[in-house]
Amino acid sequence: MNHSHPRYERTLVIIKPDGVQRSLIGEVIRRYERSGLKLAAMKMLIPTPDMVETHYTLDPEWKLKTGEKNLKAYRDKGLKPPHDDPIAQSNMILAKLKKYMASGPVVAMVWQGAHAVAIVRKLTGGTEPLMSDVGTIRGDYVLDSYKMADDDLRAIRNIVHASGSVKEAEDEIGYWFKKDEILSYRLLVDQMLYDTDLENFIE
Ligand code: GDP
Ligand code: MG
Repeated sequence: MNHSHPRYERTLVIIKPDGVQRSLIGEVIRRYERSGLKLAAMKMLIPTPDMVETHYTLDPEWKLKTGEKNLKAYRDKGLKPPHDDPIAQSNMILAKLKKYMASGPVVAMVWQGAHAVAIVRKLTGGTEPLMSDVGTIRGDYVLDSYKMADDDLRAIRNIVHASGSVKEAEDEIGYWFKKDEILSYRLLVDQMLYDTDLENFIE
C-alpha cells in the first residue's frame, strides 16, 4: 500500500473542556465525520497543566506565531494590545491555557483522510470566535474574542484544538497517542472518495 498518498494524512483534534461541558462532543465529531475523514483514534482524559504546556511548546515557533497573530488581531480592529512583545503575550496565553485545558475532561482524536490537516482547520474555523466564519465549529457554537478573554485574564474558549500544520500534527499525534492506539482500517466510503475507476457499482 502506498502510504504517501494524501488519503493517509492525519491530524489531531482535541475537544476542549468547554466543548465537553457544552454537550458538543457529538456535534463536533459529526462535522468531521461527515466530511469523509476517518476516525483513527479517540480517548477521553483530564490533561495535567504540564501536558498542556508540552503540547503547545512542541513547536518552538508557536510562541512567536501565536503572539504575532494576537497582536495583529488587536491592530486590525484599531485596538491596543496588552503587550507589544509577541513572546510576552504568548507566555501570558500559555499560563491561561494550562488552566483552561486542564479544567476538566477533553476528547483527543486522530482524524485521517486527504488533506486532513487543512480540511479540519477549515471546518474548525479561525482561532477567535468573533471572527471565525459562519458554518465553522468556532463560528457557530461560541462567542468569545481576544479582547474579552485577555481583559478577563483567561484563554479564549473556542471548543476545539486542531493541528495547524502537517508537521505540528505529526508531533502532536506522537505526543497524545501510542502507535498501537491508532487504527488503520478501510471504510466502505473510501471507495467513493478515492477509487480511480468507480467500477463495481452497477449491477
Ligand atoms: P489555534 O491553533 O487556532 O487553536 O490557535 P493558537 O495555536 O494560536 O492558540 C492556542 C489557543 O490559545 C487558542 O485556541 C486559544 O484557546 C488560546 N489563545 C490563542 N491566542 C490567544 C490570545 O491572544 N488571547 C487569549 N486569551 N487566548 C488565546
Ligand atoms: Mg495552534
